[in-house]
Parts: sequence; structure tokens; C-alpha cells
Amino acid sequence: MNYQHILEQVSQEASALAGEGNVASYIPELAKVPPERFGMALVTLDGQVFSTGDASERFSVQSISKVFLLALAIRQVGEKLFERVGKEPSGNPFNSLVQLEYEHGIPRNPFINAGALVMTDVLLEHLPDAKAAVLDFARLLSGSSEVDYDYAVAASERATGFTNIALANFLKAHGNLHHPVEQVVDAYFHHCSLSMSCLELARSFLFLANHGILPHPTSQPINQSTNQPANQSTNQPARLLSVSQTKRLNAVMLTCGFYDEAGEFAFRVGLPGKSGVGGGIAAIMPGHWAAAVWSPEINRFGNSVRGMKALELLTTLTGESIF
Ligand code: GLN
Repeated sequence: MNYQHILEQVSQEASALAGEGNVASYIPELAKVPPERFGMALVTLDGQVFSTGDASERFSVQSISKVFLLALAIRQVGEKLFERVGKEPSGNPFNSLVQLEYEHGIPRNPFINAGALVMTDVLLEHLPDAKAAVLDFARLLSGSSEVDYDYAVAASERATGFTNIALANFLKAHGNLHHPVEQVVDAYFHHCSLSMSCLELARSFLFLANHGILPHPTSQPINQSTNQPANQSTNQPARLLSVSQTKRLNAVMLTCGFYDEAGEFAFRVGLPGKSGVGGGIAAIMPGHWAAAVWSPEINRFGNSVRGMKALELLTTLTGESIF
């Protein structure tokens, strides 16, 4: 399969949608991002790397970080996580207060904001430093020690994130938040501010296409309680999630990764994936590859317009999807 040629064709065809959608502006710092940016990367399990456009430029991954939270939370508490958060598609906006009220403080799934706030609370309970753990995990997955939070984006969201603070208060009122609201939202806003490139994101999602095993050749075993590579060096690939846990995480991506547009993404693209309002989308083809795309103009559901089109073209041109 000539993935490089296909990526270039995808980029060319998706450019017809430039100008459709808007850069997220409810987080003021995100409104500064140039709307015309477009990057895409595809990395295979056997180590090949393909990319086009602005694939090396870092952007705000926003809700794509919820996949890292879910992986870490499952590692810490396993199935018990689902006593505090559901696993059904929400069919509602990612920041819906109404739905949380109807459902008495149990978020419908881990990928809506309320679900991510609960996962952040779980990480605060089980890890010495939840902010550091998520950053270290992103560095481990991407193989890049330079991945970092964008502190200006985190501060910008902190200053304007009243809906998320309301959601956290509501969770607290229902006993589904064990730490102070301020502590949970501070960690959550930092997680969302992770700044990564398409190349780094695609690489980070490879373990989900690999039954939970980190495929990097120099991987080390990961210590369960610190989430850091163990001291002894080895060239053995590291297992991060069990086969079953990986299946569950991918299933939640497929059914809930795009909020009230999850059906549309499955229909058009046919892969498990996760979007963020920074305009990024990461998706996996189990057993084969992971891909990431970035175009900051998002639709009313918070999903990248050109990003969705690009992944639709990718699975159409390659004939590769989970269906
Ligand atoms: N930080 C954003 C928020 O909480 C994440 C939303 C998203 O990417 N869909 O609103």
C-alpha cells in the first residue's frame, strides 16, 4: 500500500473544505491558531512512518487526552471505573449539564467532559501526581520527551471554563468527585492542554492498534504504580493494557469518541478514534496502523471538518477499516 501517495491525495482533496467550520474560540488561546493548518501522519506497527503537511507542528490535543486518561484509569482501577462512569454514547454535546443532571451525576461515558473529570479524580486518588503522570504517559507513548503541556492554553481555559467548573460542582454534589473541585479542574485543564504533533499522536495511539502493547523497539516494562519505565533496561515490548482492556477502550472510542457525531464518524470513517476541539483526530486500524490528522476548523459538534473528511478519504482509498 502506497500510504505516502494516499496521504498526499487525501490532503489535496480535503483542502476543498478549507473555510468550513470555525477555530474554537471559547478557549481564547485556541482562537489564535491559524485556521488553514493541515497535517496528517500514519505510522504502521512495523515501524513505517508517513506524513504530509504540518504533521510535525504541535497543537492542543484537548479531548484526545481523554484516551490517555482512560488508559491510565483502567490501569489503576480496572472495571471498577465503570461504577462511576457509564459506557454508552451520549448523543449530547460533550459539555452537557442537562444530561448529567438527568443521570444523577454519573457521566454517560468517559469521553464527555464530565466523564473525564471523574477519571481525573480517579487518577488523583491513585497516583502521586496526576498532572505529571499524564504528561509522562504521553511522553512514553509518543517516544518524545519534549511533549509538554501548553501552560498558556491551560490558564486560558481555567479563566473561561465555567461550564466545566459547573460540571465538576455537579459531580461533587452527587458524591462522584472525591477531591476538591479546584484541584480536579486544574489537573483536567492541564491534561487538555497537552501539545503534540500528528506524528507524536499517531505514534501514541499505536499500542491501541497492537492489543495494548507499546510497539517501540526500545520499550521498557512499565511500573504499575508509578507508570514509569522500570529501572532495568530491556528491549522487550511493554504491555500497557491487557487484550481485553484494549478491546474495551477501543469500543468506547468507536461508540463515544465523537460525542453526538459518533455515528457519523463510524459511518463515514469506520475506525475507533478520538477528536479534540483543537482540531485534532487520532484513529486506529487494529493490527495495522494508527493515524492522526489536524485541521483547526471544527464543526458544531466540536470535530474537525477537514480531519473527518481526511480520515474518510483514507479508509475509502485504502479500503481499510474495521468493517
Ligand atoms: N478542554 C475542552 C473542554 O473541556 C475539551 C473539549 C473537547 O476537546 N471536545 O471544553
